[in-house]
Amino acid sequence: MSTTLSKPQPHDSTVYGPVNSWRFGRSLGIDPICSVSTCSFNCVYCQLGKIQASTAERQVFVPTMQIVDDLRTRLPLDRVDVVTLSGSGEPTLALNLEKIIGVVKKITRLPTVVLTNSTMLHDPTVRNALKVADIVAAKLDAVSSNQLQRINRPVETINLPDILAGIEQFRQEYSGHLAIQTMVLSRWTPDMVEDYIEIIQRLKPDEIQINLPSRPRVLVRKLEARGNNIAPSSPYLVQNLKCVSNDILAALATQIHDAINIPVSYPAMA
Ligand code: SF4
Repeated sequence: MSTTLSKPQPHDSTVYGPVNSWRFGRSLGIDPICSVSTCSFNCVYCQLGKIQASTAERQVFVPTMQIVDDLRTRLPLDRVDVVTLSGSGEPTLALNLEKIIGVVKKITRLPTVVLTNSTMLHDPTVRNALKVADIVAAKLDAVSSNQLQRINRPVETINLPDILAGIEQFRQEYSGHLAIQTMVLSRWTPDMVEDYIEIIQRLKPDEIQINLPSRPRVLVRKLEARGNNIAPSSPYLVQNLKCVSNDILAALATQIHDAINIPVSYPAMA
């Protein structure tokens, strides 16, 4: 297992925001990846643009003390509801994840959220590190391997059965709040809805969050894109993704909720 240490540039703070999250309120971001976007997926809608380093290999990207120092410069925190580990890629790729969550909780005394793409949940060390978090939002965009390849474009070693088995195992071990986060890119067929409901029944999350890629996607990596803060009027080259309508999203949420009686949330759009 590699432990390459790539220190962030001096201007690349590992702390960003707070950003307004429809799911979690005012969220202060902690970025355990930082300078080079790194992920085991390369999602077609990723707000970071094309992922710069595609890998499923864990390493230390940012020393824990760097995060502590960056966080201390932001104290006292004003109008922050939660602290979210996310940012420039997949946070569970960070080997020091458990330490980071621990110090962030100790310093901020706020609920800690981790947004993960679920690809590393097969790893017991990752599942163990995530147990310290108050909320884990695990991505599940695909109900078939074909869809996974088209939407999430994983690295070669990642496959859907392993992802589902990883989430299922994590659910059995995790007593915190588990949300399944799903990006809806097109109108789902009845078969897809049925498959999704079956999978959710197996995974037993506390909540489902369905979402739309409503923000422009930068074509070239910009650090500030990690907070989803690229405005539609931004000077950067961006791609606006075609979205399903709010009505379709709302109908899908109702259909899922009626079938399995688990809370389903989705963003209120203007
Ligand atoms: S999992 Fe997240 S960070 Fe990784 S490519 Fe997809 S949207 Fe981007």
